[in-house]
Amino acid sequence: MNKRDDFEYTLKDIFSLVLQLRENGTLEHGRDFKALLSCENPELHSFLYANARAVTEDRFGKKVYLRGLIEFSNFCKNDCFYCGLRAGNKKLERFRLTETEILDSCESGYAIGARTFVLQSGEDGFYTDDIICGIVSSIKKKYPDCAVTLSLGEKSKQSYLRFFEAGADRYLLRQESSYPEYYMRLHPAAMSCEKRLQCLWDLKEIGYQVGTGFMVDSPYQTVQDIITELDFMKQFEPQMVGLGPFISHCDTPFSTFPDGSADLTLRVISAVRLMLPDALIPATTALGSISEDCRTSAFASGANVVMVNVSPVFSREKYAIYDNKADTSFEELRRNIASLGLELEISRGDHKNFTQLNSARK
Ligand code: SAH
Repeated sequence: MNKRDDFEYTLKDIFSLVLQLRENGTLEHGRDFKALLSCENPELHSFLYANARAVTEDRFGKKVYLRGLIEFSNFCKNDCFYCGLRAGNKKLERFRLTETEILDSCESGYAIGARTFVLQSGEDGFYTDDIICGIVSSIKKKYPDCAVTLSLGEKSKQSYLRFFEAGADRYLLRQESSYPEYYMRLHPAAMSCEKRLQCLWDLKEIGYQVGTGFMVDSPYQTVQDIITELDFMKQFEPQMVGLGPFISHCDTPFSTFPDGSADLTLRVISAVRLMLPDALIPATTALGSISEDCRTSAFASGANVVMVNVSPVFSREKYAIYDNKADTSFEELRRNIASLGLELEISRGDHKNFTQLNSARK
């Protein structure tokens, strides 16, 4: 293929790009991705989603992996422009869960079938490494058949190593952006893209199953920025990829920006599925917050994980990353998943390359 920069793609060309991406896990040119992601033809969208779903079923059958999500602190020292938990948001009522409350949340999660607990928080210095290690080892002791996923933000490699030694299996840290110029449009000068990426490489080197990801259609983001993130993830090869539309929060510097497009998010999910066929990709709460149908559509577009909030009810509305965050019941999620002919899987749901490694570690 020798395409000039001004090459005009026909719809037929773009359909064949979907097949190429499925076949090769990548496309030859950045402009191919641009053509694919920018195409507004509904039939092309359906074709992309169907191919992504087919690859998902090749690898995972009809299973959707269940995770119990515990949002245990909304204190944060950072000031990310998009996030409602930012330190500068003085209107937010802050909370912290105790170890007992976290273990009780695990119990609720276990009861509905979750065999992975995801512990997420703002960057809260109250929880020292000793406290986190204590919580992780208590959970692993009480639930030896379960995986623990941490999502606590940026820490030193030493801290990540200690959490891993205490039994943590996985770590979610979206890169947000791997391109410094765009990263700085989302974050204050005190934060850095290099540091974020270093954290990801550290986590990988330690042996975690690592989750990356980014917000789709966030302020100032171009299609080229999305392609940059796809390139980064192709290179990094994360085991998990979290993708949700940007949703504005009224008490942040980005309050006046419109919510991101759910359709574009679904297309990005499908593209990531075709690039990383074995990845664990959640149908995110951000999609569910646009509408529950959008979250359900994510499963038909290549997502294969659902996170159910098992945090105590009193704290849920305080974990307000963005406005109108969905708090959908387990029963409703299960019904929606069943409506697609898919079924919830009761197991840890590790990434394929890690099943043996994990059993070797224990
Ligand atoms: N402190 C942890 C957890 C952050 S919250 C960390 O740094 O990883 C989890 C994710 O929510 C973030 O990574 C971000 O991508 C997403 N998020 C934050 N604000 C958002 C918004 N306004 N709209 C959509 N997603 C948002």
